[in-house]
Amino acid sequence: MADAFDLVIRAARAVCDGAEAARSIGVAGGRILAVEPAGSLPPAPRVIEIGPDAVLLPGLVDSHVHICEPGNTEWEGFATATRAAAAGGITTLVDMPLDSVPTTVSVDALHAKRAAAEGRCWVDVGFWAGAVPGNLGELAPLHEAGVLGFKCFLADSGSDDFPPVSTGQMEQALSVLRGLGSPLLVHAESAEAAAAIGEASGRRYADYLASRPRGVENLAVAQVIEAARKTRGHAHVVHLSSSDALPMIASARREGVPVTAETCPHYLALTAEEIADGATAFKCSPPIREAANRELLWDGLRDGVLDLVVSDHSPSTAAMKELGSGDFGTAWGGISSLQLGLPVVWTQAHRRGFSLGDVAAWMAQRPAQLAGLPGKGRIAPGYDADFCVFAPDESFTVDPARLLHRHPVTPYAGHRLQGVVRGTILRGEPVEAARPGGWLLARGGA
Ligand SMILES: [Zn+2]
Repeated sequence: MADAFDLVIRAARAVCDGAEAARSIGVAGGRILAVEPAGSLPPAPRVIEIGPDAVLLPGLVDSHVHICEPGNTEWEGFATATRAAAAGGITTLVDMPLDSVPTTVSVDALHAKRAAAEGRCWVDVGFWAGAVPGNLGELAPLHEAGVLGFKCFLADSGSDDFPPVSTGQMEQALSVLRGLGSPLLVHAESAEAAAAIGEASGRRYADYLASRPRGVENLAVAQVIEAARKTRGHAHVVHLSSSDALPMIASARREGVPVTAETCPHYLALTAEEIADGATAFKCSPPIREAANRELLWDGLRDGVLDLVVSDHSPSTAAMKELGSGDFGTAWGGISSLQLGLPVVWTQAHRRGFSLGDVAAWMAQRPAQLAGLPGKGRIAPGYDADFCVFAPDESFTVDPARLLHRHPVTPYAGHRLQGVVRGTILRGEPVEAARPGGWLLARGGA
């Protein structure tokens, strides 16, 4: 009789739907077929035993990653980013439509993205496309071509070939996307509010923070909510930093407005108080705010107002980060944290009494739901056999030399973090295999 499974994973601790338990997981053809109490599955040709010092998590899904290939591959590429992702426990990522050339705002540009990614990815990769002024007619063809959803900016994106939309254009895009059942991800900083303040320059972090105050985000989040209320299209606020906006989002959701929101590891871990003048490794937009704001973001996760935590891995060359001059005005705004997001979040979450089940919901299940990937983000029958093996009680000191993304600049250098990723399994295969094995995902599955 043929074996029922080609792989059985026996885990003393597996996180299935929020709870940790001893489980045997039967896998065939890269897919989970059975999740049973420990010891209840027959042996298989391959068996992986995971002892009690590590936890089997669903492979993480990072729905906010900027891979700059093609066009700016010297900033970051598919090979380097996806290796860093795998080392960080991520088995699926979704690429943002800007920072590459061309930007992903047409079907031709999507084809260029796919061609650049083909055969170079160590994890599964999907694509967001852009909604920019003048490409309304491209949204349906891009959706048909398999993008998982769309991204727009309400403020300057920092990239001339990805201009911001007006609030009216955001509404138009949401109306079109509502009909397609596709989400619109919005960078919620208000161009008008930011322009009234002006750009910061120089080495003082306080000046940079003052140039992007909470109000710049609050106004834009209110505009996103009203656009979603009016059109009934699903709007998703990316990388929320201002905790002031949480009550607005909570109120809108109580009223049934289709709005969701994410935050990022750096907003949950780092504080403005600890950022030294000239420390441009910490520059991102919206900015890292005060410690009190950070605690309110944790409350937002606890209350379920914030749905998910994703990296906003936003790479550049080391020179673009202006580490020499320390000028917050000219430095690239972006933090690269694909490889570190899980331990960064776990270090902070553990201290606040959260479980690995909570972390798996924020970093695997809900990002998969946002991206409409029905086979990703859970350890359950019918899902892809994607796993992260995580030792939650081990700790390590961040050494930039061990980071695998292209330019290992990080604000976490020297930080002591709790939790070590021991391994990553993609569709039943350990990712350390000798060649890239990731698939390019399209809407509706692989
Ligand atoms: Zn981003």
